[in-house]
Amino acid sequence: MSAASAKKTPADAVKPVKKRVCKKTSTEKKAETPETVDAVKPVKKRVCKKAEKAEKNANVDKAAKPVKKRVCKKAEKTETNANAADATPVKKRVCKKAEKTETNANAADATPAKKRVCKKAEKAETNANAADATPVKKRACKKTTTDKKTAAATPKSASPSTLSPTERRRLADRVFATLTERYPNPSCALDHRSPFQLLVATILSAQCTDKRVNAVTPALFERFPTAEAFADAPVEAIEELIKSCGFYRAKAANISQASRAIVERFNGEVPATLEELVRLPGVGRKTANVVLGNAFGIASGFVVDTHVLRLSRKIGLSDEETPEKVERDLNELVPLNDWVDGSHRLIYLGREYCIARRPQCDACPLGAFCLKRP
Ligand code: SF4
Repeated sequence: MSAASAKKTPADAVKPVKKRVCKKTSTEKKAETPETVDAVKPVKKRVCKKAEKAEKNANVDKAAKPVKKRVCKKAEKTETNANAADATPVKKRVCKKAEKTETNANAADATPAKKRVCKKAEKAETNANAADATPVKKRACKKTTTDKKTAAATPKSASPSTLSPTERRRLADRVFATLTERYPNPSCALDHRSPFQLLVATILSAQCTDKRVNAVTPALFERFPTAEAFADAPVEAIEELIKSCGFYRAKAANISQASRAIVERFNGEVPATLEELVRLPGVGRKTANVVLGNAFGIASGFVVDTHVLRLSRKIGLSDEETPEKVERDLNELVPLNDWVDGSHRLIYLGREYCIARRPQCDACPLGAFCLKRP
């Protein structure tokens, strides 16, 4: 041992020997010391940022904001619809037809959806189910409807075409017996003083009322009293006097030409046969029958004017459509001595009860026989 080292006290003079220790180990020891734990700053760990984030998300519950998921919009929509029953229903894009059918089936108390069904079937269904409802007007076959009515009125008959000749004759007998009772003394509605005047008046009555003709003829016959006077007169002068009857040019021409023919061929006298009359200009079977029946008292045929044509078909005396064919039917059904008056009686009925646009069926004396009574 040296002198210097001998002078120093062993406790004070000796400086602590600095230990050269590993820095790392020292730090660890410091940290481990219980007294120094609080004061020592925490060691920063170097961890994976991603893992830290994930950990945070896992531990953070309600306070944290929900992480926005990126999901399929369609799936999200479907999920929302399923869970939110009380929420506003999402509009589905479905087949309109299927939707309609579904609605009709489920909503019995709801307003029924309009079905696009066969109108006929719909009508039939309505009629069948609604027995107590207002009866729906059926658009039935005219023939069938007529048959039903006829069955009630005339037991054996169904329609004019299905009546046997005997049935139709019986029907005609009942009709004309009833009409004779209702109109015992019929007469020609056209005013006249001679066969020629009746011929002219009948030509004028086409498409015109008897009343209008009777208003025109007095002045006309005063100006032209005979067939010769008409034959010599200018057509324009005749036209002027008959203008209000309608079709005045044609009628004036016919009257003028017929007058000339009567003067030239029959010495100014109206012929008394059907064959000769129908050869005159403007004279047909109806005019000829009117003249022969009312001016000569000759029953050449049943007079079929518009009234007789319409009524014969309505009552069931004929189902023909032309005046010639209806005349043929009536000539067979009605006795010859009733041809003239029978036509007057039917015309009277047409004017009084069976008015084309407003028939008075309830008061009509032929209501029991008429096939067209509503
Ligand atoms: S019942 Fe009626 S439709 Fe028949 S003839 Fe008389 S008015 Fe005309």
